[in-house]
Amino acid sequence: MPYIAFTDVVRSYGAGVTQINALDGASFAVERGELAVILGASGAGKTTALNILGGMDGATSGQVVVDERDISDANEDELVLYRRADVGFVFQFYNLVPNLTALENVELAAQICPDSFDAAETLGKVGLGERLDNFPAQLSGGEQQRVSIARALAKNPKLLLCDEPTGALDYQTGKQILQLLQDTCRREHITVVVVTHNAALANMADRLIRFKSGQVIDMEVNPDPQPISQIEW
Ligand code: ATP
Repeated sequence: MPYIAFTDVVRSYGAGVTQINALDGASFAVERGELAVILGASGAGKTTALNILGGMDGATSGQVVVDERDISDANEDELVLYRRADVGFVFQFYNLVPNLTALENVELAAQICPDSFDAAETLGKVGLGERLDNFPAQLSGGEQQRVSIARALAKNPKLLLCDEPTGALDYQTGKQILQLLQDTCRREHITVVVVTHNAALANMADRLIRFKSGQVIDMEVNPDPQPISQIEW
C-alpha cells in the first residue's frame, strides 16, 4: 500500500447548474519519503487536493488513505488529531502570527505536539538562529517562509504539504526555500508534497503528478531527481 492513496476523489462545490467539480475523479499515489510535485494550471484542483490530503476539507466521494488510515472516513475529532500529529502545512503567504516573534510562532505550534521539540534549534536548522526575537514584519519573505517551515516541523510531521511555497518570493529566495524543502525531505525522511504552477520543478521531484480540470492526467516517477541548485527556470 503506498503512503498516500488518493483514489477517484470528487470534490463538488455548489449545486445544480452552478455546481463545480474542483476535483473530478482524481487519483494518484505517493510512496513514503518521496518528494512529490503536483503541477497544473490555475483552477486545476491542486489546492483542493492538498486540503483534502491534510484533513482540512472533505471529499464529496472517493477514498483518501494516508499511512494506512482512511481519512475520507474519519470523523472531525479524528481529523483534528490527524492534522495535529501527522501533517505540517507550508502556505504561499506564510500565515505567521504577526504579534509573535519567530521563536514564539514556532513554540506555539510545538505546544500542541506530543513530542518534546526545541523551537530555537529548529530555527537554527532552517537558517534563522540569529533572528529568533524578530517579528514577522521584521523578516524578509524568505525568512518568514523559513519560520513557517520550522513551525511545520514542530509537529515532527510524517507528511509536509506545501501550497505554492515560493509563490510570493523572488527567484533566488524561492530556490533557497525549495532547496530547504528538498533537504528536509531527504534528511528527516518526511513525505513532502509541493503544489506549484512551475513546470521546472518537475526536475526536483521523485514523483510528478499533473492535474488538469480536476483530474490527474499523468503521474511519473523520476529516477534522477535534481538538486534545486542545478535547476534553472
Ligand atoms: P490555483 O493554482 O489558482 O491555486 P488550483 O489548481 O489550486 O488553482 P483549486 O484552488 O483547487 O485550484 O480550485 C479548483 C476549482 O475549484 C476552481 O475552479 C475554483 O474556483 C473552485 N473552488 C475551489 N474552492 C472553492 C470553493 N470553496 N467554493 C467554490 N469553488 C471553489
